[in-house]
Amino acid sequence: MNNILDLEPGGLEELVTGFGEKKFRAGQIFGWLAKGITSFDEMSNVPADLREKLSREWYIGQPAVVTGQRSSDGTEKCLFEFADGARVESVFMKYSYGNSICISSQVGCRMGCTFCASTMDGKERDLTAGEMLGEVLAMRNHTGESINHVVIMGMGEPFDNYEQVSGFLRLINSPKGVNLSLRNITVSTCGIIPAIGRFAEDFPQVNLAVSLHAPNDEIRRRTMPVAKAYAYDDLMKACRQYTEKTHRRITFEYALIRGVNDSKRDAEELSSRLRGWLTHVNLIPLNEVDGRDYRTVTEENVRSFRRVLENNGIAVTVRRTLGSDIDAACGQLRQRRTGEKLK
Ligand code: SAH
Repeated sequence: MNNILDLEPGGLEELVTGFGEKKFRAGQIFGWLAKGITSFDEMSNVPADLREKLSREWYIGQPAVVTGQRSSDGTEKCLFEFADGARVESVFMKYSYGNSICISSQVGCRMGCTFCASTMDGKERDLTAGEMLGEVLAMRNHTGESINHVVIMGMGEPFDNYEQVSGFLRLINSPKGVNLSLRNITVSTCGIIPAIGRFAEDFPQVNLAVSLHAPNDEIRRRTMPVAKAYAYDDLMKACRQYTEKTHRRITFEYALIRGVNDSKRDAEELSSRLRGWLTHVNLIPLNEVDGRDYRTVTEENVRSFRRVLENNGIAVTVRRTLGSDIDAACGQLRQRRTGEKLK
């Protein structure tokens, strides 16, 4: 059995014409899938025998909700399970500019950032394009809310799964489907340089966020193994080229970790790197993760770090803490549930 959500309109056309049906059936089916239906029987304008043929070889691969935690601020965090038992997290958030979902791109992660929960057991497998679409559809069904923005900032490294992430972007942007504008999507990478160049070519309208978390190589290498493969200066160069090519502002994510990267000197050094170009720094007070030794920053340090950047003319925001009364940090919900399962 295969997940029909993986098929792009062209693939669906091939499938239905292979069954001896007219091409337009593909558009109908694609439209139904994007509505979030979970059974072929719901495709009321598709002939019963075609529905029957489809269901013999294909399934609609929306993940099941293992747990959903709703926070008082409207944030909803779901632990999803796919047909093979693989589990990922997804978070729904309400902002003044609309509703946003943060989705996972892999089951686990192999990038090894030392402060992150998603990477603790390594990577189990990649998610397919249709499974990522499934996260969006399942969250929409679960919350009953519309989704206006998608950020690929959940578990996994999207550029370590480039083909499937590209497929997902095409699927969700497809006019006959969910039809989400590429400008309402953000992809976050830990800094895989060759993929940044490729992404600028392939998806210049999609927003890019780069997890920097340090002002220099020495500090970056302490927490991010990827920094050993790609030097800081080369990463900066790739990011500059990205902004030149796309004319889009890059967001740098910077998780503030007490005593590691949160000093005024670090803020000064970061400022000297970023001064004068189209960027935006998103400061994220570290979410403390069970089993990791790092501590989050004091409010005082957040304020002074921010002030240094602002004084240097750098656009900076501090990430609003949403869902602080539920397991907020990436990968934590899954860790906790896996722990329970093992007990
Ligand atoms: N692999 C991608 C996207 C997934 S993580 C990337 O590295 O960008 C999304 C963001 O959350 C990244 O900036 C990541 O470094 C950050 N993050 C991971 N664990 C965190 C934690 N415990 N506290 C704060 N931010 C964290």
